[in-house]
Amino acid sequence: MALIKCPECSTDVSDQAEQCPHCAYPIKAKHEVKEPIVVAKEGCFLQTLNTGCMLIAGFIGSVILFAILSKACNH
Ligand SMILES: [Zn+2]
Repeated sequence: MALIKCPECSTDVSDQAEQCPHCAYPIKAKHEVKEPIVVAKEGCFLQTLNTGCMLIAGFIGSVILFAILSKACNH
């Protein structure tokens, strides 16, 4: 348990406190609502994007490969 400075009024506040007792600035809420949620969202988004790209790339690759193979066979 440590004391941190309130970013709003510079009062010493426990980092376990939910909010600054002086100005009610949300101390703990800010600590908990960190990046994990954003990172998770980004990871999810990138994962979806990657999966979509791989599906599209795989589909296009198959079509091109099929076209090349059919042309080669028609010779
Ligand atoms: Zn404060």
